[in-house]
Amino acid sequence: MEENWEDVGCSICRGQWERGERPRLMAESLYMHTRLYVCTGCGSYWEERERYACTIQSEEARRSYPEAFPAFDKAKQGAGP
Ligand SMILES: [Zn+2]
Repeated sequence: MEENWEDVGCSICRGQWERGERPRLMAESLYMHTRLYVCTGCGSYWEERERYACTIQSEEARRSYPEAFPAFDKAKQGAGP
């Protein structure tokens, strides 16, 4: 599935990637050689891979980088039925 660059994130985070900067780093996966960033402007999650970066859904971010969402996990465990 391909997305147009103009359709992902916002002008803030796209501009950061274009200038060689990065959104805010949230987590790093040594195993997958990827990093998770979040845009402080639009809240998009970005995954930096070996050759390129792309936005990912929040569910995918939580699944791939559970350590970046401790509050989320705690809330889930504490809010049992
Ligand atoms: Zn953004």
